[in-house]
Amino acid sequence: MKPRPSNWLSVQSLDRNGRARCGAELLALLTIPVAALVMRFTVLGRLHACTFLWLTGRPCPFCGMTRSLLAIMRGAFTEAFKLNFFGPVIATAAGLWMLNCAVGFACGRRAVMGPSLVSVNWWIVRVVLALWAVYWLLRLAGFISFPTN
Ligand SMILES: [Zn+2]
Repeated sequence: MKPRPSNWLSVQSLDRNGRARCGAELLALLTIPVAALVMRFTVLGRLHACTFLWLTGRPCPFCGMTRSLLAIMRGAFTEAFKLNFFGPVIATAAGLWMLNCAVGFACGRRAVMGPSLVSVNWWIVRVVLALWAVYWLLRLAGFISFPTN
């Protein structure tokens, strides 16, 4: 179960419990597209899905995210970036994570990040969050258009 020591990336062999955990992780991650589809057929376009937008008339950092994820599922990538630039970013990260879980569940082997890659990833997370904040401020100020319906 313990990953072999490596600076970047290693392959971990999984026992029965490890494979079950991969399956559980995959099911948890699948709630993202399922939640987007549920919203598509329930609240989207009918209710004010975003209280911030409803109260202020300006977008919150997540406005357009559900529709962005739905656009990705349809293969409409340009539209996905326009709806919320970080939809495709999150979808890519979640997709790679799901793929790793699916391989771990099916094959009993999964990729594991070494300490070096984990620390690099934390920097990437910080940079993405900072860029997301800047993107939101630009949308808030009206420099980047945002969909309201
Ligand atoms: Zn919002």
